[in-house]
Amino acid sequence: MTVFVDYFVCDQCQSKDFKRIYNFSLRFHGVNFSDDLIYDRITEEIYQCTQCKKTFTLGEIEEGLAVIRQKMKKRGSQTS
Ligand SMILES: [Zn+2]
Repeated sequence: MTVFVDYFVCDQCQSKDFKRIYNFSLRFHGVNFSDDLIYDRITEEIYQCTQCKKTFTLGEIEEGLAVIRQKMKKRGSQTS
């Protein structure tokens, strides 16, 4: 059985190496009939190319991986 590995690569410099960066934030919003503010704590992860420092969201990475899956599927159906 042949195993292929294909990497999500940075579309700017073609590097496959990324590091993960976390952003922590609080999102405040008012509550009806009250002066109180409530807040949600949000943790966001972004991924930064180790070479050119371009950042990608998790969504963009997922999209890139979906493209690779499509490409592999196509390749598989051509050879069989
Ligand atoms: Zn890059």
